[in-house]
Amino acid sequence: MLMHAPRALYIHIPFCTNKCHYCDFNSFVLKGQPVDDYLDALEEEMKRTVESMPPDIIHTVFVGGGTPTVLTPPQMTRFLASVQRYFPLAVDVEFTMEANPGTTDLEKLQAMKAGGVNRLSFGVQSFNNELLERIGRIHNVEDVYRSLDNARTAGFSNLSIDLMFNLPGQTLEMLAESVEKALALGLPHYSLYSLKVEENTLFHTLYERNELVLPPEEEELDMFLLLIERLKGAGYSHYEISNFAKPGYESKHNSTYWRNEPYYGLGAGAHGYAKGQRHVNVKGVGAYIDAARQQLPRLDVSEVSELEAIEDFMMVGLRLLDGVRASDFERQFEGKKLEDYFGDILDRVMADGLVERLTEQDDRRYRLTNKGILLGNEVFGSFIGLTETSSPG
Ligand code: SF4
Repeated sequence: MLMHAPRALYIHIPFCTNKCHYCDFNSFVLKGQPVDDYLDALEEEMKRTVESMPPDIIHTVFVGGGTPTVLTPPQMTRFLASVQRYFPLAVDVEFTMEANPGTTDLEKLQAMKAGGVNRLSFGVQSFNNELLERIGRIHNVEDVYRSLDNARTAGFSNLSIDLMFNLPGQTLEMLAESVEKALALGLPHYSLYSLKVEENTLFHTLYERNELVLPPEEEELDMFLLLIERLKGAGYSHYEISNFAKPGYESKHNSTYWRNEPYYGLGAGAHGYAKGQRHVNVKGVGAYIDAARQQLPRLDVSEVSELEAIEDFMMVGLRLLDGVRASDFERQFEGKKLEDYFGDILDRVMADGLVERLTEQDDRRYRLTNKGILLGNEVFGSFIGLTETSSPG
C-alpha cells in the first residue's frame, strides 16, 4: 500500500448553539463549555501530531463540527494562527470551514478570511422557515441571505451550501421551491443530503414512538431525481453522489476521502487515516482536553489491512460519478489487479445495470449508471465484507 504523509487535514470543533433534532455528530451544546481550554488542547494535539508524523505540504484543510463558527472572532483568529503555525500549507491550499448562517457576522467572517480560510460550506438545509424550525435549526431564511452577503463582503467567493430532503412534512413542491432559491444564489457548489434517522437523536426517539412522519420512500426517490434534474439543468456537474459543482469547484478535501487517501484528523472524536492506521480521538470535551495534555488523545487506533484498504477503495471510490480507474487501483496497491479482487461482484452489479465499465486506451473505469446513482447504498454495500472471498489468495 502507498503510505505517504497526509496532504489533507481535518479539524473538529465540537460545539453548537443547540442540538439539531436529527444530529448524531460529535457535538455538544456550547453554553458553559471550556472553549478556550479546548483550543489549548487542540494546539497540544497539533504539536504532538507534527512531532509524531511530520507533515508534507498540506493541500487541503477542512474545519468541521459541530459548528466552527460558534468561536468568537478572537478565538477564531487564535485558532487559525495555530493551524498556520504547525502545518505548512500550499500556496493554493483549499481551506474550508463549515459555517452556520445563524452564527456568522461580518467581523467573524473577516477573521476567518484573514486567518487563511478561503472556502465556506454553509449548513442551510432548507429555504422554508417552518421546516428549519421542525428539524431544530437555529437559523432562518433571512440569516442565510445575510450570512452569504457578509461572506461576499468579507471576500469569499468559493461558497457551498448544504440542502436536505426527505424532511418531516416536506413535499416535492417545498423542495422545488428551496432548490430554486438555492440556485438563484448562483453559488459554485451545492451538497444535497437525504435525512436519515440516526440513533441517539430526538428524531429517533420520535420515530420509535411513531411520532415522526417522513415522506414515503418513493417520494424520497422523486426528491433526489428532482434535485439531480434541476442542478444538472442549471449547469452543475454531478461529480459525487451528493455533490454538484461548477467546473473547478469540486471539493478537493472531500476527494481525499473518496480516493481513500490519508488525512490528519484532529479534535474531539475526529477520525484520521495515515501510515496504514486509522484512529478515532476521545469524544467528550473534558476527556479530550485531559488526554491531549498528556499524549495524542486517541480513543482507538487500528491497523488497516491491505484487504480492508482495497474494500474501502471501491466503496468510497464509486461515490465519485467518474468512478474508479483500474490504473489508480494498481498504483495504490502496487501492481495488484482490481478485477482479481472484485471481478465477481462487478459482473453482478453490471448485470443488474447498476455499474458500467468503460474501456479507455489501456485503462478500465467502473462507474455508477443512472440507476446505480439512485441505488448507491445498495451498490456500495455489495463491496462490504466480500474481499476475503474474492481475494485471489
Ligand atoms: S449544527 Fe450541525 S453539528 Fe451542530 S447540532 Fe446541528 S447538525 Fe449537528
